[in-house]
Amino acid sequence: MSSLPVLVLNSGSSSIKFSVYEAGDGARTRLFEGAVDGIGTEFGEFWIKDAGGKKLVDQTPALPNRAVAFKLVADALHSGQFPAPAAIGHRMVSGGPTVLENQRITPPLIDEMESYTAFAPLHTPIAVYIMRQALEIFPGVPNFVILDTYFHRTMSEVAKHMPIPDEYAAMGVRRYGYHGISYESIIYQLQPSVPECLIVAHLGNGASISAIRNGRCLDTSMGLTPTGGIISGTRTGDIDPGVLLFILRQIAATAASAAEAADQLETVVSKRSGLLGVSGLSNDMRELREAIRTGNAKARLAVDKFCWTIARWIGSFVAELNGLDMLVFTGGIGENDIASRAEICAGLGALGIVLDPARNNVRGAAVISAENSPVTVRVIPPLEDLMIVNHVVRLLGE
Ligand code: ADP
Repeated sequence: MSSLPVLVLNSGSSSIKFSVYEAGDGARTRLFEGAVDGIGTEFGEFWIKDAGGKKLVDQTPALPNRAVAFKLVADALHSGQFPAPAAIGHRMVSGGPTVLENQRITPPLIDEMESYTAFAPLHTPIAVYIMRQALEIFPGVPNFVILDTYFHRTMSEVAKHMPIPDEYAAMGVRRYGYHGISYESIIYQLQPSVPECLIVAHLGNGASISAIRNGRCLDTSMGLTPTGGIISGTRTGDIDPGVLLFILRQIAATAASAAEAADQLETVVSKRSGLLGVSGLSNDMRELREAIRTGNAKARLAVDKFCWTIARWIGSFVAELNGLDMLVFTGGIGENDIASRAEICAGLGALGIVLDPARNNVRGAAVISAENSPVTVRVIPPLEDLMIVNHVVRLLGE
């Protein structure tokens, strides 16, 4: 295959990240990357950096909505300053129960994925908007959807199934798992020596953890939606269903309709809970660490809850894997929050996880376990865009 520019579009609930790679036979070179961040605010950020990190664009535009935000990206990509994309890869959190394979995007496929917005309500609306825009502004350029659920397709039926009446299972209510592109990128970076029993903790604003045997997903913490699993920035993680009923009854007492009550409940479990809900202060680990330094007890409780939950998941995954060779931390907290890594691992010596405090005192890629630790513990930043490019190149060749 001759070398061609591949555009990667990766949207979050309030941001659009993008990058362009030159992809040839086996070679991948990132030409530039950029982001529009702060959609819905008066002072957003819009930047583009070249491969050397030099800022080519650095603006603070008002970003009242996603249309304004995406227009900035589209105009920049059409300015002639950057190579026109030959193919586009879109990161998609969930394609619902029917769109499970990475594939070429068509208008009916977008409609189908949009009909499953309930599976990833914070992510799907902006992602499908951007797909429709991209088909329109880059006519003839093949667009591909690359799914975060794809990696988890290898989970067993037991792991996927939920203990609910069959009629809901038939509607696609089951465990899917997310952050799959990040997990794939960790395995990609560990090649050719992928350990047999591996646990990866992706700890960012959204957080999840996966048990991986011989490079294939055995189990993961997130379920039907990214709200399940471990506690994260603003999400509950797994929770006693009775809590949802309790909150719903409070909300229902004043809500105008059942739909409004459901929306309010969603806001509580997805946007107001997790680290933010417990601390009453912030979903941002840096702010919580700062508050802990000044003696804030609720911030301490939130972070303790976070680390405790993750340690419990690691324990159950060691049981499921029936062993552990390597634990990898990734994501903004996993890569940068030295204290969280130390606190999570502090009680895991019996599982063979022993950190070296000096080695752990690091941000970015490193081996952080002690010399004599039976389990190797590493920090590896994810390379999600590169994985998307790899999928796009493979799909182009099919
Ligand atoms: P997202 O899930 O939105 O991609 P990230 O992977 O960027 O999120 O992770 C965001 C989290 O990482 C935030 O809680 C942030 O506080 C935390 N984080 C980023 N840098 C640091 C740092 N230097 N120290 C501690 N936490 C950090």
